[in-house]
Formats: sequence, C-alpha cells, structure tokens
Amino acid sequence: AMYAAKKRAGTTYLHYDSAMTEPGDDHSQLREAIAGGRCFLVYQPIVSLDDGRLAGVEALVRWDHPEHGVLPPDTFIPVAERTGLIVPLGRFVFAEACRQFAVWREHYKDAPAVLNVNVSPRELREAGYADFVAATLTTHGVEASRVVLEITESLALDLGPAVATLHRLRALGLRISLDDFGTGSSTLRLLHDCPVDEVKLDRSFTQAPHGRAPVAAAVIQLAQALGLHAVAEGVETPAQAEQLRSLGYSTAQGYHFARPVPAAQLTEWMTGAPV
Ligand code: C2E
Ligand code: CA
Ligand code: CA
Ligand code: CA
Repeated sequence: AMYAAKKRAGTTYLHYDSAMTEPGDDHSQLREAIAGGRCFLVYQPIVSLDDGRLAGVEALVRWDHPEHGVLPPDTFIPVAERTGLIVPLGRFVFAEACRQFAVWREHYKDAPAVLNVNVSPRELREAGYADFVAATLTTHGVEASRVVLEITESLALDLGPAVATLHRLRALGLRISLDDFGTGSSTLRLLHDCPVDEVKLDRSFTQAPHGRAPVAAAVIQLAQALGLHAVAEGVETPAQAEQLRSLGYSTAQGYHFARPVPAAQLTEWMTGAPV
C-alpha cells in the first residue's frame, strides 16, 4: 500500500504517494497509539501435527488506526524499530501477552502450554530488558519455561552485545526461537553464536511442492542433531501438513490450522472444562 496520511492545516488528507510509505509511517501517531491503547494482540495457534491439539500460541500485534483501520505489523514495526518506539511497543506486547496467557492457563484445561512472543534486537539491546521480562513474568504468575522469544533470523545478526541478554533470559528459563529460519545469510554461524532452543522454518520452505522439500528436510535433521525444537510456519494445505509430519516436524502453524484471531475467539475454542 502506498497511502500516507498527512496532516496539513488541521485537516487529514489521505493521498497516494509513491515516494513514500504506508499509514504506519507516522511515528507521532504510533506513539499516541501505543500510549492510548490502540495497539492490540491477536493469537495464532501452534498445533501438534500428530493430534491437531493446540500446543502453543504466537502473539502478533495489530494497530487499530483511526483512519486506516486495522494495520498489520509489517506497516509499522519497521518504523517502530527506526524510531525506538519498538521499546514501549514491545513492552506492551510482552506484558499483554503474559496477562492473557495467565488468564487462559488459570481458567481453561485446554489452554495453550506455550506462549511465543516476537522481539526485535533493538529491544534486546535496551538495558534492563531481562529485568523487565523477569518482573512481568512475576506480576502475571507466568512460568518462564512456558515463554518462547522469537527473533527474526535475518535481524539476529545485529545482536552483538545483546547475545549476553539472551543468555540471561535463558538462565531465567525462557526459550529462544529463530524466526523465518533458513532465510538469513549466516544460519549456521548464528546457531553457533547464539543460545537457541527452537527454529521456525520459514514458510517459503514449508510451502515447497510435495516430495520436493529438501530445505525442510535438512532443517529438521539439523534441528534434531542440535537438540532444537522445530516449528514449520505458513502451512496452508493438508498436503503440506502431511509432508512436514512425515519429515519429522511435530508442530506447525498456518492458515490450514487457524489464522491469527483475537483472544476472545481463541478462548471460545478452548473447551472450557475447568482446570
Ligand atoms: P512472523 O513472526 O513470521 O509471523 C508470521 C506471519 O505470517 C504473521 O503475519 C501471520 O499472520 C502470517 N501467517 C501465519 N500463517 C500463515 C499462512 O499459512 N500463510 C501465510 N501466507 N501467512 C501466514 P503478521 O501478523 O502480519 O506479522 C508479520 C510480522 O510482523 C511477523 O512475522 C513478525 O516478524 C512481526 N511482528 C508481529 N508482531 C510483532 C511484535 O509484537 N513485535 C515484533 N518485534 N514483531 C512483530
Ligand atoms: Ca514470529
Ligand atoms: Ca516467521
Ligand atoms: Ca517475520
């Protein structure tokens, strides 16, 4: 989308602008949105390929924009990263996801066992991030071992000194996942340099034609050799799910199972039997 909201003389114009950007690019609006509760979370199930059960959920952020409606994260996360707004945004995401996860765990027998949250390297570099995480887990009574922090593989190269933060988070009991795995340029280097527990196979490999998925096959073998958990992302068809299961993947995520949905909708899917 190439729409940009511009404020001129008190009036908001929506105009088409090929040189610029997207609605999410206005960072003063984004700042207000974070403070004003206009950002919210949706959750996508991570399911077991053996029995289809809900194994976990991934929290994904949305911005309910006053003029443009609900914006996907790709339209504003890059801006948030450039401007540093990713720090307050990421703290909102982590705290809200923990709060909701604790409610599910407390009230529903079929609640997800694991919560996955996306973090950007910029957040990990912020002093005090691990302290914030530890305090938030305590506030909501969430066990650290139930939380997986996802870092996009291609961005993880910028971690630098934040690798020490990853070690601290792991010492607290959280797990670290490499997202979009296989799309980065230094995959093996990263597995060697970073403390990692999980890899999420990028959907470009998940969606390989039937019987021709050499990268998906290699990644599960690599993961097994290194003792890592592997999740396949972007599963859209039963054939893809079956191919991944036969390759040895135990969990997967994608529109074939469920789209990301608001918390209330996911709650309805939990059978509601008391704990
Ligand atoms: P991601 O972490 O790789 O998340 C998966 C994206 O793929 C989600 O898009 C999801 O809706 C989409 N998806 C899931 N299943 C399928 C499928 O079967 N087919 C296809 N084509 N797509 C599928 P979404 O929600 O738009 O998120 C985009 C990216 O924004 C995420 O990619 C993640 O990198 C980033 N992001 C989302 N929430 C946060 C957040 O709270 N913090 C940070 N730092 N980044 C976030
Ligand atoms: Ca992710
Ligand atoms: Ca991904
Ligand atoms: Ca991504």
